[in-house]
Formats: sequence, structure tokens, C-alpha cells
Amino acid sequence: MALFSRRASLLEQVKALRAELGPSAPAPLPQELDDLARFLKPTPATEPKPDELAQLQGFLDALPDPSGVLEAKGKLVRANNVLDQLLGGRSVGRTLLEGTRSSELQEAAERSLQGSCVKREVNLPALQKVVMASLAPLPGGRALVVLRDLTEQKRIEQSRRDFVANASHELRTPVAAISGAVETLLSEAIELNGPARGFVEMVQRHSSRLTRLTQDLLDLSKLESGEWRVELGAVELTSLFDVVVELVRSRATPRGVQLAADAPNGLRVLADRRALEQILVNLIDNAIKFSPEGGRVTLLADNAGAHVLISVIDHGQGIEARHLQRIFERFYRVDGGRAREAGGTGLGLAIVKHLVQAQGGEVGVESGQGGSRFWVKLKSAPAT
Ligand code: ADP
Repeated sequence: MALFSRRASLLEQVKALRAELGPSAPAPLPQELDDLARFLKPTPATEPKPDELAQLQGFLDALPDPSGVLEAKGKLVRANNVLDQLLGGRSVGRTLLEGTRSSELQEAAERSLQGSCVKREVNLPALQKVVMASLAPLPGGRALVVLRDLTEQKRIEQSRRDFVANASHELRTPVAAISGAVETLLSEAIELNGPARGFVEMVQRHSSRLTRLTQDLLDLSKLESGEWRVELGAVELTSLFDVVVELVRSRATPRGVQLAADAPNGLRVLADRRALEQILVNLIDNAIKFSPEGGRVTLLADNAGAHVLISVIDHGQGIEARHLQRIFERFYRVDGGRAREAGGTGLGLAIVKHLVQAQGGEVGVESGQGGSRFWVKLKSAPAT
């Protein structure tokens, strides 16, 4: 403290001298004076007091996750038991690189020691763990590190994905066989009369729903597991819109729904063509389903500089605000009965969200009583 106040008062004297010479001083202050001022500038204490250290240790011990404090050079100076267990022994005195062999974690530690907060999922193959690492700078050039163990959660997610993928894969063959048999029954060659035809048609409706459901589940599990890789390239929107409108026309015509598409000439986005086609088909399918008979569905693209905004607009019943948050979740439906009757699987928007995110974009919806606007924001591709 004495050293601190002596430094501070010396600094005051330097400042006073500087003020005295003032702006009218004939020559700039000598370099030595500036060096002296820099040398005397009070620096924050880097060594915490013993009671601070005890407090810090108590705080770390109370945390359920593996946690510790790094000193300025990246070595752990404090750690709780859970961190010791994770790193397979005493962790104090080691860097995160030494403890985990992860250069990604070490780099995160360095960034936090330089003053940034870092939060990222890190795979630690050497420890057979996946963690959510949160690092935050502390006073005195130190940093707090908390490694939340995600290994079990990841394992459960993986087995859920495997189960869904396997189940839908197994279902495909029997469902295809049922559909085939029903097609044959309904063909001209076989005579079905009265109620028998009605029942077979019901089997046909449900088997085609099952086909869509198994296909959507397979697509979703491929997307979630990263097996469906997007390949980004420049996609010209006018021609893509034409293709998409043709694909959905057969669903719009029976309901008398008018389709309109408009994109500025030559506008291109950075996207995976197949994925973007699927996104737009899903969104327009919904827009048609939820439009009144004879309604209008519009597909629009707007150039917003670095981004392109694609909108699918309908004038249907709209979606109440309380559902909007959850609309992109799997199997979430506003009106389950009606949506199922309309042939929905409840997975269309979940697939849209995954496909948009896989392309580095954003998706959202605005809706009210006058209808809905689903939008997709993607990076624009440079014009040729
Ligand atoms: P579904 O196959 O049931 O359409 P989605 O995931 O595509 O499943 O959509 C989820 C739910 O969101 C739908 O069941 C419906 O309730 C609501 N929804 C989606 N699009 C629209 C829309 N354009 N207008 C009104 N409701 C919509």
C-alpha cells in the first residue's frame, strides 16, 4: 500500500510538472519524463491476498462442474476436486493443454486471459469427454474456467438419433410393400365394390402418410447427425423459384390456390440448391395447406446487400403469437387434428430449420390474423 501511494504521488508530481510546462512549453517533454510516468503508473495487484484465495477456493468447491482459476501464464492456480478428477490427478500447476491435450481449449484459455469471455463446445478425445467450456477473465490477469461435462447428454442424443434412424429405416420396406399392394388393389384390374373400396382408399391415405413420415424422420436424423452435408454454391433465384412453383403446383391447383413468384433478375444466394429447394417446397406446401380455397401464396426474394431475404407469404388463418416460439420444433402442431388431416407429418418446419442452419442462415416467421410470412435469410453470392 505504501509503495502504491508513493507511486501515485510521484505520478501526481509528474502530471503537475507536465501541466506547468503546459501547451506553451517550447519543446516537448523529454522522453525520460514520459518513461517515468509509464513506470510509475499504478498497476493492479496481481497476487490475491490469502483470504481472497480461500474465498476463491470455497467458491470453486461449491461449483458442481469441473472449475478452476488460471493465472496470467495459463497455469491453473486453483481447482476444485471435480476438475482434479476430470484431469486425472492434481491439476494445479498444469496448463489446460497439459491437462487435456486440447489445443482448442488452450487457445480458449489464452483468449480469456487476454480479456475475452469464451464459451464453446470442445471435444476432448484424450479424456473421452465432450465439455461445454466457459472461460471468463478475472481481475489481476487471471481467468475462471468451467468445464461442463456433456458426454452423457451427447451419448443419449446419439442413441436417440440412432434409434429414430434405425426405426424409420426398418419401417420403409413394410410400408413400401403395403403401398404397393394397395395400389394394385385400387388398379382397374381388380374389382372393388362399395365399402371395400372405401377401406382400401383409407389404407392408401394412411400408408402414404407413413411413407412421408418415415422419409421425413430419416431426413431429420441425417441432418442432425451431420450425415447430410450441404454443398454451398451460387444459386440463381429466378430459375429456382420456377422449379419450386412447378413442383408444388399439383398441390395448389385442387384447392384453387394461386401461386406467384418474384425475384430480382440475376439475384443469387450462397446455398445448397437441393436443400434450398426442399426448404421452399416445405414452406409453400404449408402455405397452400393453411390458405383458404382460392387463396394466394407468394414467393419473394429481396436483395439486402450481404444477405438475401426469401419470403413465403400466405393469407390463411395465421398462427397465434403464443405458438410462434415452438413452431420449428419436431411434431409441434398448432391444431394437431387439422394438420394431420391435411397430410402433415409435423416435421416439415424442423427440417426447414436444420437445413437453413446447415447453410449458415436464419429462419423466422411473422404471423397474424391476416396470414403468415415465413422468411429465410441467406448470404448473397457475388454477381458474375
Ligand atoms: P405439418 O407437417 O404439420 O405442416 P410443420 O412442421 O410443417 O408440420 O408445421 C408445424 C405446424 O405449424 C403446423 O401443423 C401448423 O400448425 C403450423 N403452420 C406451419 N405453417 C403454417 C402456415 N403457413 N399457416 C398456419 N400455420 C402453419
